[in-house]
Amino acid sequence: MTGAGRPVPAEAPAGLPAGFAPALIAWQRREGRHGLPWQGTRDPYRVWLSEIMLQQTQVSTVLSYYPRFLARFPDVASLAAAPVDDVMALWSGLGYYSRARNLHRCAQAVMKDWAGAFPQRSADLATLPGIGASTAAAIASFCFGERVSILDGNVRRVLTRLLAFDRDLAQAGPQRELWELAQALVQPDAEADDMVAYTQGLMDLGATVCTRTRPSCALCPVQDLCEGRRSGDPTRFPVRTRRLNRRFEAWWLLLIERPSDDGHTEVWLHKRPERGIWAGLFCPPVFDSREALCAAVPSAMAELLHDGDAVAHALTHRELRLHPVSLQWPAQADAPGAAASGQWVRRDQMTQVGLPAPVRPWLAA
Ligand code: SF4
Repeated sequence: MTGAGRPVPAEAPAGLPAGFAPALIAWQRREGRHGLPWQGTRDPYRVWLSEIMLQQTQVSTVLSYYPRFLARFPDVASLAAAPVDDVMALWSGLGYYSRARNLHRCAQAVMKDWAGAFPQRSADLATLPGIGASTAAAIASFCFGERVSILDGNVRRVLTRLLAFDRDLAQAGPQRELWELAQALVQPDAEADDMVAYTQGLMDLGATVCTRTRPSCALCPVQDLCEGRRSGDPTRFPVRTRRLNRRFEAWWLLLIERPSDDGHTEVWLHKRPERGIWAGLFCPPVFDSREALCAAVPSAMAELLHDGDAVAHALTHRELRLHPVSLQWPAQADAPGAAASGQWVRRDQMTQVGLPAPVRPWLAA
């Protein structure tokens, strides 16, 4: 096993489709995605940043965040030196905020433990905060030509179909076995440029051809090698039995607003705890019922509460129903009673603090 938790076999298991890697590399060079802002660089900082942003987030969204982030933090040193709240603010709207916290911790670890230069081996990269085995492989293959395979969700889909791999990926054993097969498919004599095309090819094939519900097998560069296609129903791969059970919760958010001395409007925000949903972000006070929210404001003001339209917000393990309740607060009045641990933030300065995506429209200037 490597430090990334990825086993590397001594020799390729028999029965793998010969010609997969060359066909994929040739197709990527011919028809794959080129010209994305994070392509064509061997700078591990830029590759790492894009890989973390692209986890759970569409390319079209990352296209606007990536240049903004680089403009503010052009290198790992500037990111490591920044306050974590600045990083969270720039991440605001991308979701999965543990990525931003780990990004900051990882930058600090690179500065402290690696003298400011990312390590080159995937096994070392995978010891850094927030860098899993597949991300480590992507950085090592793109930037340093390491002959190592990525295996994110898209690639799992491509390879299980290619190989008609029908073992249950909810189990650790089959997961390990698929890692071994992925590694065995890498060309043992691939040059650094080949590894760039191979890794990008795996990503491109999963994103644009071998899609989840309707793979375009007729356009696929490895259709002649694909056992899943030969079986007649490639979409039955990958096999994964465990299903996520989402818990339903109702949240009531108290949007307290007051005029400021200089003619602006301010909103009262809490900083969320460092663990849990929206950890470390700024947010209006949250209550688990409307009764609890009412109890937090002076009884004389309860009649001034105004209910907005509720919105649904799905997280990995929760289904949230968010109920905004607004309240006009007198100018220069003290912090609101039971919701006291927070701060006033001007509406026109909301972009400078990290906010959870679903509450941003309520707080926009
Ligand atoms: Fe996916 Fe179809 Fe290509 Fe097989 S032939 S890898 S199922 S797109």
